[in-house]
Amino acid sequence: MLVGCPTEIKNHEYRVGLTPGSVREYIAHGHDVLVQSGAGAGIGADDSAYKAAGARIAKTAEEVFAKADMVVKVKEPQPGEWVQLREGQLLYTYLHLAPDPDQTEGLVKSGVTAIAYETVTDDRGGLPLLAPMSEVAGRLAIQAGATALQKANGGRGVLLGGVPGVLPGKVAIIGGGVVGLQAAKMAVGLGADVSIIDRSIPRLRQLDDIFNGRIHTRYSTVEALEEECFSADIVVGAVLIPGAAAPKLVTREMLSGMKKGAVLVDVAIDQGGCFETSHATTHAEPTYEVDGIIHYCVANMPGAVPVTSAHALNNATLQYGLQLADKGLRALADDTHLRNGLNVHRGKITNRAVAEALGYEM
Ligand code: NAD
Repeated sequence: MLVGCPTEIKNHEYRVGLTPGSVREYIAHGHDVLVQSGAGAGIGADDSAYKAAGARIAKTAEEVFAKADMVVKVKEPQPGEWVQLREGQLLYTYLHLAPDPDQTEGLVKSGVTAIAYETVTDDRGGLPLLAPMSEVAGRLAIQAGATALQKANGGRGVLLGGVPGVLPGKVAIIGGGVVGLQAAKMAVGLGADVSIIDRSIPRLRQLDDIFNGRIHTRYSTVEALEEECFSADIVVGAVLIPGAAAPKLVTREMLSGMKKGAVLVDVAIDQGGCFETSHATTHAEPTYEVDGIIHYCVANMPGAVPVTSAHALNNATLQYGLQLADKGLRALADDTHLRNGLNVHRGKITNRAVAEALGYEM
């Protein structure tokens, strides 16, 4: 199969669908790989690195879309891209179709067979191609929060780890899933005093075991949320209710009980945010202030660290991508989890949630 990788064109997207390391794996499986010139520039991989891995270099995206049997990307196709897709071609990338009727219609019209990273599942009920980006965002949340907490950046001026003789800063993490666990690891690593609040008692038990007394766990009630937020220097919002908008767990009224210059990092902003006062920001201007509280609400946090993010994403996508390249559509029949990733096939929506959200027949 000819596997194609165009340069990402979405604003400020520096990741790439295939790293040179992934290209080597496709080549070892007997496939041809065509990479658009400059596709890896954002992660420091130039054309010569791709050539050394065995890829051929295409001058334009048009050449990649026209020739590839399977297109591997990161972000959902943009309007100029989906018109180049065609029936019989495979598209393997993040799609997030439910809130995006225009792209959905574009993919339906193209006839392409589109597998969405975000709906591929695993045996434990997880979403293995979303998890690495949650890991990145969770770890980054503490870096971003600690920076915002510095006085010159508008924060209270607290060092998370304290120093001998001075108490450490306090971090409250709401939601102890993938994001929450990684945020906690970073906060603990910096020496902060860390609490995790979750509504799942089995999850709180697991976290208690993982950290062996180094963190506090709290069951999620309004009382617990108030106590933790009012004493925190950084609050990380990391809740997820699958398929639903994030619940507003921290109200505007609660901000008045918090320490002035404390920082809210709303990682759940891509699901609408779990603080009432959150609105999405960008890496160019990541923070703003409401009632003396600094808000960091970047909707694509992994974009800040494309080298790490692109490699983490490739680690997760490679095995399924190879199955698709090796077996074509048969890969979907052979693997239910990969089949769950199928969102569009020959002009039909094949994912129930997407069909219901946008009024398509399955
Ligand atoms: P996850 O499913 O692994 O964890 C979510 C946790 O929230 C679960 O443990 C759940 O029990 C808990 N929860 C649900 N309702 C709660 C409540 N009322 N109180 C306390 N806890 C509650 O999800 P995840 O992968 O950790 O993702 C968390 C959020 O981060 C999602 O909204 C995800 O989309 C988002 N995210 C954002 C970025 C970004 O760049 N901003 C990147 C990756 C993930």
